[in-house]
Amino acid sequence: MKYFIANWKARITADQALNWSKEFSDKIGADTVLQTELNNDKIRIIICAPYPFLFLLKNRFNNRKNIFLGSQDISPFDEGAYTGEVTAKMLQSTIHYSIIGHSERRHFFHEIEETIGRKIDQACSHDIEPILCIRGLKDKIHPAVKIIAYEPVDAVGTGNNENLQQVIEMKKKLKLAANTVFIYGGSVDPADIKSYTATGEINGFLIGNASLDPVEFYQIIVNSRS
Ligand code: PEP
Repeated sequence: MKYFIANWKARITADQALNWSKEFSDKIGADTVLQTELNNDKIRIIICAPYPFLFLLKNRFNNRKNIFLGSQDISPFDEGAYTGEVTAKMLQSTIHYSIIGHSERRHFFHEIEETIGRKIDQACSHDIEPILCIRGLKDKIHPAVKIIAYEPVDAVGTGNNENLQQVIEMKKKLKLAANTVFIYGGSVDPADIKSYTATGEINGFLIGNASLDPVEFYQIIVNSRS
């Protein structure tokens, strides 16, 4: 199973999100090879949209095998007087995954390990699979996490993707449990995706900027075929 995770960040309007979903649906609907890959659990696509758009997109992807929605964050609180928070309980009937601990949240919102741990606990206790982003060896890996996205800060949003060898070295150093899904994220695009897929060491990709264009995102999936 190979994962392709789109992270739209805060870069898209509601109209754009709806157009994206239509265009992407049409693209994958016309690709019989991809349909087979999705139906045979070879590929899983996770679209991590801003909170308000998750509900708009729910119907579009509801009955498609191996296409899921994810959030880009989740509240560390269960419920209560926490104005502005979006909790796992609110999202659990709509999403299957949640990105947690993205480097942009650690940086701009000063998220610390304790908060990240509580977010992971919240996701897990509401049947949402956390996708934990780590920047390297210093970031803590919560024992409940089954999907790790290694996202070196120098590579995220910069166009300077880390090369396969460096990514594999990091994977070795992390000493992950055998069943952990290991994702790479950092400036992946249709031109460089192939360089990562040769070894089978990387189980998928978290894609920011290149996921904003449905055709580019689709092309990454297609170009990953060996
Ligand atoms: C990301 O947002 O997690 C990311 C990897 O972004 P980009 O692909 O733009 O580097």
